[in-house]
Amino acid sequence: MARIIDGKQLSAQVLKQVAADVEALKAELGTTPGLAVVLVGEDPASHVYVRNKVRQAGEAGIRSIEHRLSADISQTTLNELVESLNNDPDVHGILVQLPLPDHLDEAEIISAIDPAKDVDGFHPLNVGALAAAQPGLIPCTPLGCMIMLQQVHEDLSGKNAVVIGRSNIVGKPMAALLLQASCTVTIAHSRTKDIEAVCREADILVAAVGRPEMVKADWVKPGATVIDVGINAIERDGKRKLVGDVDFADVEPVAGAITPVPGGVGPMTIACLMKNTVTAARAQLSETHPAAAVGQS
Ligand code: NDP
Repeated sequence: MARIIDGKQLSAQVLKQVAADVEALKAELGTTPGLAVVLVGEDPASHVYVRNKVRQAGEAGIRSIEHRLSADISQTTLNELVESLNNDPDVHGILVQLPLPDHLDEAEIISAIDPAKDVDGFHPLNVGALAAAQPGLIPCTPLGCMIMLQQVHEDLSGKNAVVIGRSNIVGKPMAALLLQASCTVTIAHSRTKDIEAVCREADILVAAVGRPEMVKADWVKPGATVIDVGINAIERDGKRKLVGDVDFADVEPVAGAITPVPGGVGPMTIACLMKNTVTAARAQLSETHPAAAVGQS
């Protein structure tokens, strides 16, 4: 049976380190890292995500500032809010919860965030930095996946990695990180021919698709490490249930290691948001207090 990569346990370790880093920043500079969370509209899933993020921030000692806005807010008002957060020295991280209502331009809002405060890592400058292997803020979900992979593999160099999905928030940055770790990387997507055969070549298989239990045992090379990013709500036996993009019961006997859903990548994503907030705070503070850069991780 596969080794289960426990996202709950691992995220608790990451958050413990974040809390220690927050304490160190407070002691060195008297500053508490601040995370501004902007939530537009009434999307129930977004409300749950924001609630979890705010709770975790509090537990890590990060000051969070919530901005809840009505669904009909104008682009100009949202841009102005982001601008004011950019200029607020007590705010070190800005997160605009996606998706935004249809009348708002997500790309414009993401580009309006100060790249130094872009703790989601979605600003084009951070995207470019990742592609060019330069320092920058890395998207939380792929960052969490890499920490999970490091639990199983000391060195990823030379491994065949297949990422299913090519979104800007998961698939593409995940592939970039695996490439940086010297994997041979293939990105599969909805147009990929014979995707099962492509996946069977993978030593590392990352599924970020949004299709419940799509990946079956015969897609997986025996012993492969399987990271399941998908979060899909389904009904089974009359009950609502969360499942991943991987058919866990089918794949677990074949894989070498596997992440569960729930309790896998999800908690790691939130922990990495906190990690990015502290990284961003230290980088911003080191501009005015050069000594702060010493503790930068
Ligand atoms: P997107 O919808 O933006 O992207 C999905 C990708 O999957 C696309 O590239 C699409 O291909 C590809 N795809 C769709 N259908 C197929 C198919 N049948 N075969 C192969 N590829 C396919 O999703 P996200 O990247 O935003 O999210 C993916 C999943 O991860 C979702 O379930 C989401 O809820 C979850 N998620 C979980 C997070 C966490 O914290 N655990 C964080 C973020 C997302 P194409 O480009 O060709 O259309």
